Amino acid sequence: MSFRKSSPHIRKIRRNLSGRRFGRLTALAPLPSPKGTNTRWLCSCECGNFAVVVGSELTRLKRRVNSCGCLNLELLRNRLDDLTGRSFGRLTVLARCGQNRHGHTQWLCDCTCGNIEVATGANLKIGNTQSCGCYHSEIAAQTQQLKRVVTPPEMTITNLLSRLNNLYQ
Ligand SMILES: [Zn+2]
Ligand SMILES: [Zn+2]
Repeated sequence: MSFRKSSPHIRKIRRNLSGRRFGRLTALAPLPSPKGTNTRWLCSCECGNFAVVVGSELTRLKRRVNSCGCLNLELLRNRLDDLTGRSFGRLTVLARCGQNRHGHTQWLCDCTCGNIEVATGANLKIGNTQSCGCYHSEIAAQTQQLKRVVTPPEMTITNLLSRLNNLYQ
C-alpha cells in the first residue's frame, strides 16, 4: 500500500503521540499494528490502568477517548449517586461539597433546625447522619417527643445563600 505525502490519513498515522496527554490518558508508545490499520497506542491512565487506543480516537475532535473507561464509570456513578434534593431524616441535600480526607464525597445539607451540616453520602444513606446533631440533643432532652413528624422545608442553594447573606449583613 502506498500513500502520497499529502494524504491526511497517513499524516495522522505517523503523528507521534508519545508523551502527549489526552484527558486522563498519556500516550506511552505505539504498538506494532498490522499494515494498513491505524496505529494503536499504549496509554497509561491517571487511575493506574492501561488502555490501548487507536491514535485517531485520541486525536479526533468528537467523542474523543480520554480515559481507560474509568471516567465514564465515574460520571455514571456520580449521576446515579446524585443526592441533591433528597432528604435524610432532618437533612435535605443542597449540593455536592468536595471530598473528605478519605476521598468520600461530601454533601452540603440543610437541617430543619436551620443549621448546615456537611455529611458523606455513605453516612446519609445508611442513616448515620440524619441531622446536624440537633436530633440527638433533642432526644436526650425530650424522649417523649421522639415520634414527632418533621417536615423538611423547601430549601435550595439560592435560598441558603440569601439566608447566609442576611446572617452576615
Ligand atoms: Zn482510568
Ligand atoms: Zn439540626
